Formats: sequence, C-alpha cells, structure tokens
Amino acid sequence: IKIKVTKIDVPVSVSSAFEGERVRKDTMFAEFGGNKTAAWELVTTGDLATIEDHKITVVGPDIDDAMFDGVDVVRLPLGVLVEVAGKEMQSDFETVLERRIHYFMNYIEGAMHVGQRNTAWIRLTKEAFEKGFRLKHIGEVLYAKMRADFDTVVDKCQVTIYTKKEDVDKIYEERVKPIYAQRDDRMSALTDESVDEFYTCLLCQSFAPSHVCIVTPERLGLCGAVSWLDAKATKQLDPTGPNQPVVKGQAVDERLGIWTSVNEAVATNSQGAVEKVTLYSILEDPMTSCGCFECICGIMPEANGVIIVNREFPDASPVGMTFGELASMTGGGVQTPGFMGHGRQLIGSKKFMSAEGGLERIVWMPKELKDDVAERLNKAVKEMTGIENFADMVCDETIAIDSEAVLAFLEEKGHPALAMDPIM
Ligand code: SF4
Ligand code: ZN
Repeated sequence: IKIKVTKIDVPVSVSSAFEGERVRKDTMFAEFGGNKTAAWELVTTGDLATIEDHKITVVGPDIDDAMFDGVDVVRLPLGVLVEVAGKEMQSDFETVLERRIHYFMNYIEGAMHVGQRNTAWIRLTKEAFEKGFRLKHIGEVLYAKMRADFDTVVDKCQVTIYTKKEDVDKIYEERVKPIYAQRDDRMSALTDESVDEFYTCLLCQSFAPSHVCIVTPERLGLCGAVSWLDAKATKQLDPTGPNQPVVKGQAVDERLGIWTSVNEAVATNSQGAVEKVTLYSILEDPMTSCGCFECICGIMPEANGVIIVNREFPDASPVGMTFGELASMTGGGVQTPGFMGHGRQLIGSKKFMSAEGGLERIVWMPKELKDDVAERLNKAVKEMTGIENFADMVCDETIAIDSEAVLAFLEEKGHPALAMDPIM
C-alpha cells in the first residue's frame, strides 16, 4: 500500500520560496561541511523488505547537545544516508534522487545547502534553532519530499543522520566512497562519440534564466552533480522535466564541438539569449555558467595556459582574482570567452577545452583540487601525450601564487603549455 505524504512535521516552513536564502555568519547557528568538518550525502537503494518507511534516526550529538553550551557556532561532521526502496526503483535513479537533497534542504526556512556528495555544506540559522528545528527535521523533510516527488519509484524511505566523527569517516570510507567510485567508473566508460544523444539541463534557470547546460558523457553539468547518466535517468523519471535529449546528428565542427542540434536546443531554451555554444572551446562561444559550478577555469596568458580554482579555495589565484571574483564575472548565464565554470570531473576529461589543447594547458590549481583529480588527470594526459605524472608539473598555492614564481616553476618542470601554440 502506498501512503501519500502531504504534511511535513517540522517547526519551520518548507517551500521553494526559500530556495535562494543565504545563511550568513552573523545569523548562523550551526554549520556542517564547507571545509570545516566532513560532510557527505548518499541516496542508495535498499531491500523493500528491510527498509522501514519513515524511520528517521540521528546517530550522535544533535545541535542542542549540552556540549555546545557557550560556543559561537555549532560545528559537526555530518553523514546523511537516505535509503529508498520500491518495486520500480532502479540504481540508475539514485544519483537523481541524491541531487534533489540539495533542493529539498534549500526549501527549509533557515537552511542553506551547497555542493553535493562529499562536498556538501550546510548552514542553519539561529532563528530556525529557536523555533525548535533539530537534525531529525532534516530527515523529516527529505523523507517527505522523496516520497512526494518520486512516488512512482519510492515506496519506502528511511533516513539516518550521523554526526559522530568516527561514524562519518568510517561509513564514508567503507560504504559511501566505493559507491561514488562505482558511479564514476560507469560514467568514464562512455564517450561523446559513443552516444547518439546529449541532454539539456535547465534546472538552474530558476536563478540564471538564460542558462542551459549541455550534458554529454565527457562533459558533465558544471555543478558536478548531473552526469549524462543522471540526465538520462531524469528523463525517464520525469519525461517533461529539466533534462531533454538533444539528438546529436552530424557535427558542424568536431574540434570545437559544434552541433546544429545543440545550438538549436540552447537558443530555444535560453529564449534566444544564447544562440550558439561550442562544447570543447573556452574561447569561441563557450558554454554559459549559472552560479553553482564547482570550479572556474580561466586563461593565464603569460603562462600560455589556464588556471583552475575550486569553490572551496579562499585565496587569490595567479590571475589575481579569488573564486568569488572570478565567479561574479563568469556566472549568471552569459558567455565569457576565456573563462568557464565546470565540474571537478571535467579535469580528467579528454574533452576539457580540447579545442585549445586540452588538459595539457592546466598550469595551476589549488593543492586540494589537484590531489583530488590527480589520478584521472595523469591517466588522461598519459593516454593523450605520453607524459607521465602530469599533475606534478601543475603548480599550486603551496609552491607559488605570484605570476613570476609560477612561471619559474613551470619552466623548471618543463611544463608542456610553454611550448604550445599561443593560447590567444
Ligand atoms: Fe543542471 Fe547545469 Fe544547473 Fe547542474 S549546473 S543543475 S547540470 S543546469
Ligand atoms: Zn547551476
């Protein structure tokens, strides 16, 4: 029997009207993730017989625990495990449901959610806390929305929230990380040439009305949360939803990545604001950026290459700008040649600005990002150029940020970008 979930039992309002709400430091009561603590979220399919519908469990301290008396901001590690089951549920749908956690949490009055997977970052306001909002209410909201929005596939849903460091770390290593890796492996077996269709993603038009992501096997959405497989699954779950197929047809220009079908889809879905995009160039009609890109890539002319900055990196980059400053000129759904927002996964894709020489053009990245992507990056560059351990040639903030010092490092390493054709 299916139970229809209508009312959500929480002490604050839950509505899409709160989606754009920001929680600033002075109104914040509690914070999870955002580089301060570990935080992850996972939707996984369980057994219909063992999943207990509407079971919400908080394992570890809650935000009103006595141990927080006198602290300015409550900071806790956080693991959000959403287990679903249903006769029509498929494992391909998991990532689609998981991405919706971002939206569902942002619907909560007094909550802000950024990121996904193990880059989740959540803040709660003092006001929400005073109204009685506690961690179990996150579970209540996720439960209710999963059941309501995915009622065709989710018959049962249970939510477990972990806040003890040892649990958050251990479950991540043993259960969560292998699932993320498995999903990435499935995705990396596909290429743009091996499929007949790309997909549009219009989810971000709520705040960037002219923004259209074109999602291909080798170029995931710039939020890092919508892969080609996700877009395909969303189309199955929600046939008139934000992801619609674009039947590729013959490429107009394979090097730049120009397809008439893609241009038409972008023009129609941006209401004419953007008429043409290339999929593989950062200089000629690059894809637009909304606001939720994981990274920004920008040209560093003197190094004949590009730098990449991720959202978590707080300092100025070698082009003199911070992530925030770069984001304000790159975002909003406009085309900004020389700059583009993208997902972490794109660093390691053979289609990464391949029109301008590709991955070999990367000259600088924050160390955390470099370490995170090194394995895939090294593998892709090795396959394309024969260069071993390319990541070691890429400068980072622990080596240098100042332009001249970056150049000196690149020379010393014999970085390939220095010998390539001028980038502009
Ligand atoms: Fe979709 Fe792109 Fe927004 Fe991600 S950034 S949700 S792929 S429109
Ligand atoms: Zn976006």
